[in-house]
Amino acid sequence: MIQKMSDKQPISFSEPVRKLTRQARIECNGHVVTVGGNAPVRIQSMTNTDTVDAVETAIQVKELALAGSELVRITVNTPEAALAVPYIREQLDRMGVHVPLIGDFHFNGHTLLTDYPACAKALSKYRINPGNVGKGEKRDRQFGMMIEAAARWNKAVRIGVNWGSLDQELLADLMDENSRRPTPWDVRQVMYEALISSAVESAQRAEQIGLAGEQIILSCKVSGVQDLVAVYRELSKRCNYALHLGLTEAGMGTKGTVASASALSILLQEGIGDTIRVSLTPQPGESRNQEVVVASEILQALELRRFVPSVTACPGCGRTTSTTFQELAKDIDDFLRARMPEWKKSFPGVESLKVAVMGCIVNGPGESKHADIGISLPGTGEAPAAPVYIDGEKRMTLRGDDIVSQFRVLVEKYIEERFGRASNL
Ligand code: SF4
Repeated sequence: MIQKMSDKQPISFSEPVRKLTRQARIECNGHVVTVGGNAPVRIQSMTNTDTVDAVETAIQVKELALAGSELVRITVNTPEAALAVPYIREQLDRMGVHVPLIGDFHFNGHTLLTDYPACAKALSKYRINPGNVGKGEKRDRQFGMMIEAAARWNKAVRIGVNWGSLDQELLADLMDENSRRPTPWDVRQVMYEALISSAVESAQRAEQIGLAGEQIILSCKVSGVQDLVAVYRELSKRCNYALHLGLTEAGMGTKGTVASASALSILLQEGIGDTIRVSLTPQPGESRNQEVVVASEILQALELRRFVPSVTACPGCGRTTSTTFQELAKDIDDFLRARMPEWKKSFPGVESLKVAVMGCIVNGPGESKHADIGISLPGTGEAPAAPVYIDGEKRMTLRGDDIVSQFRVLVEKYIEERFGRASNL
């Protein structure tokens, strides 16, 4: 028997409920980027230039920041790199780019942060890998020196544990303990435990040394989607530090993008994660900004944040007569992205705009009506005309060879009228 509508319950919206974490404040020239607590999920990225080349590094940091990266990490691996850091900061300040810089330290961070105070001061946050700070008693002393530098300069710290550079002494201890269990755990489960223990215990040690718990962000990166999900679910239960999410060594192109999006989306949907980085290997000739584009698309697809107007486009099928609609979809997408820096200033709220570009009459009118402005191109056998829908109603029909430019003009006019009006209220 078919149930009557009056007997049914409304279907709940699917909205992630963020797990409340402590909020870190990452400061740069008086501008503060908050991470955790009620702050939006932040996007971060990492340069792949030689930090010693201060000009090239500053240019790439600027590009990443303009693409939407709210924090940018740079490698600080040698005295020369540490010396370059204040110059990179200076150049960014001169260009009006106030994105906080994070120093990525391994092996010699204790020395670099102590011997190069200008570097320690110019950075806004330090990344410390507890698996790469030395062994035995040296480890505690060197870790302590880095935390003391952070406390002295009032910087935030990410304690970033990585599957590939796990604290071997801790892992060996846990393996020994596991072998004494009546029913030993799977080796992978011991690895999970080692990752989480290393991060949480290091954070507790950092607090004992004098760093405020709010200024600590944790990460436990692995390269497998299911491993990442398992580890972060448990990590978020064991602490309330802000969490940095990322799949390490995600890989290139489609594989890296899909793996990162899958892993991050599962966790973000469960409310886990305060800042994300998508670790893509750029394909030859590909811009480093791609990792920022993918990170923004993940957050926008999950409706956690909005950055650019969304373009709904059908995939096309045997009903489409040409590539016109593919070109139009790409053209409109590129056009919206290119105009956003200017529109953001003049038309507040423009990032919520929804545009539809559809291939034929089957879903074209319906999907276009759901968008703020949509166009339904003619499919095979349809009259060579493209109806345009604005705010759910058919307003006009475009014809001719320059439908693309006509539609662009309409989109721009719609934005000016709707969002320009909002800014004048
Ligand atoms: S809207 Fe038309 S062209 Fe696009 S996928 Fe559907 S049937 Fe094919």
